[in-house]
Amino acid sequence: MRTTDFTYNDEQFADLQMLRYRVDGFDELSLQQKELIYYLSEAALSGRDILWDQNGKYNLRIRKTLETIYTHYNGDRECDDFMAFVIYLKRVWFSNGIHHHYGCEKFVPDFSENFFRQAILQVPQQLLPLDEDETSEDLCNLLCPVIFNPDIMPKRVNQADGDDLLLTSSCNYYEDGITQQEAETFYSLMKNENDKQPVMYGMNSRLVKENGLLKEKVWKSDGMYGQAIQRIVFWLEKASQVAENDRQRNVIKKLIEFYHTGDLKTFDEYTIQWVQETEAIVDFTNGFTETYGDPLGLKASWEGYANFKDKEATLRTEKLSSNAQWFEDHSPVDKRFKKDVCKGVSAKVIKAAILGGDLYPASAIGINLPNSNWVRAEYGSKSVTICNLTDAYNKAAHGNGFQKEFVIDEETLKMLENYQDICDDLHTDLHECLGHGSGKLLPGVDPDALKAYGATIEEARADLFGLYYLADKKLVDLGLTPNEEAYKAQYYGYMMNGLLTQLVRIEFGKEIEESHMRNRSLIAHWALEHGQEMKVVELVRKENKTYVKINCYEKLRELFGILLQEIQRIKSEGDYEAARNLVEQYGVKINSEIHQEILTRYKALHLSPYKGFINPVYTPIYNKEKEIIDVKVTYGESYAEQMLRYSRDYATLPFIN
Ligand code: ZN
Repeated sequence: MRTTDFTYNDEQFADLQMLRYRVDGFDELSLQQKELIYYLSEAALSGRDILWDQNGKYNLRIRKTLETIYTHYNGDRECDDFMAFVIYLKRVWFSNGIHHHYGCEKFVPDFSENFFRQAILQVPQQLLPLDEDETSEDLCNLLCPVIFNPDIMPKRVNQADGDDLLLTSSCNYYEDGITQQEAETFYSLMKNENDKQPVMYGMNSRLVKENGLLKEKVWKSDGMYGQAIQRIVFWLEKASQVAENDRQRNVIKKLIEFYHTGDLKTFDEYTIQWVQETEAIVDFTNGFTETYGDPLGLKASWEGYANFKDKEATLRTEKLSSNAQWFEDHSPVDKRFKKDVCKGVSAKVIKAAILGGDLYPASAIGINLPNSNWVRAEYGSKSVTICNLTDAYNKAAHGNGFQKEFVIDEETLKMLENYQDICDDLHTDLHECLGHGSGKLLPGVDPDALKAYGATIEEARADLFGLYYLADKKLVDLGLTPNEEAYKAQYYGYMMNGLLTQLVRIEFGKEIEESHMRNRSLIAHWALEHGQEMKVVELVRKENKTYVKINCYEKLRELFGILLQEIQRIKSEGDYEAARNLVEQYGVKINSEIHQEILTRYKALHLSPYKGFINPVYTPIYNKEKEIIDVKVTYGESYAEQMLRYSRDYATLPFIN
């Protein structure tokens, strides 16, 4: 359904649109598998508060305050201030905090500070998150500057070259006042160059200063975030009792052990066991996982999800993973940076059953884990493409006018209609299953050597691997692409996105910050510039609008191959300067004329650049003996209902730490 009311309704608000994803196939699972998913989904929801606190130290208090106003304010609920307030709350829910989930900048509320103050004073005081001796008035004075003053906590993650990235980022991984230099020194002292199996230092802790000394507060069941972790462990214990096989049971038990000890060696052991468990239909991630939310790329945000395998679609990714060595051997990168033996790349297509933590409500559609370089090199990785989320995206995008506006001509448009969905899926498979898993570091190279540029370079490496091979005849031979032309749809879509359309996600005047976006811009602009002489790709003007024109797809593939070579060299050698130059030159800056034009054209379409998902609801059915005899899945819950229920049922942490 298209909605024309752009600013205020349940499904579409600000720059966001909520989608529902379906979990078809759940009813056909065995009772034991359903029960397992139910317990894992409870575990995935129980860590929600951790992420809120990681994203900013006032987030939990702000959420409770906003929700209390939302449910108890009995002034005029039709006035502009209240309407704007509701949109703000929905945005905060979506971002798990007061900063944009993707751009990281603090939102500016469209309601007045006056309205907010009088609303706080009007709602019942006992429902507000007040500290002992604190009044509603005190809460106003604490929160108003945080919410309304643009100079306070302006960015969750700041990546601007030259700034002190910790002092200018308001994520809650480092205590206020700790400088980038201090933190980098603290962690570099922990590292030992000769350690062939280094743990991911700093991954599961907050760095604080006590009596002038830096110290880690570790996230574990009797440490920081303990209350939430105990709840997670409670559900994991139950899950372990209905595991599909012994291996999976041991995986869950190892994870529980890690949650109890916080020991990072145990974490590596857990991921090794997890990567090797490939038989079960049901699978999960639960824990401190991705480091995009830390400007130094060390601290991992909490996420959790449960899923089950789509057997038919998995045949597709198995064709890739079983040929992993062929792809590694034939890639254009220097031999010194290639893996001699590709170990254990396993790939599957899955359906998400629940999304939690940093995967909710905005989610990835492909995931490759674990992130430890040495574990990946020695034990391989598990890669997934989440097909029921992709389906929901494709349905929402179908016929919405976007392609018609930005694609250069009818012929190209037709090509995209025919092949883009297939190629998109395949590109995600290649990116996750082979791209991230390919290549190796030279001996002695610090996996964090590229520092703040590491994430962008890594995404570029995986994207380029995918782009390069999408055009390979091998994919036709494997029956994965329908013919030798299909890849062109992906090339066009990729260049259009990197050069033009991804800019719809960025406010006018700002630069590109998010690492996946920087990566796409880097690849597209590098290819544009390096193909300039031979006019491989051009930006052309037609009726006062800018379009991407690709004159030679074969040459474009060669350019992708050359850049892949260089990016792999940078990664393998840990060449920080080269990473910085590439990212700063091609991945960050935006041409303001083009930006303005794209924003104007996009605005006229009334679309939302970001999507998120409403989770299904799982309800266990019990018999008289209190045993589960079935689990029902339903989809009816609205966005606000779901968020309020989660805040009620999965509130695990105190508002004030
Ligand atoms: Zn990736």
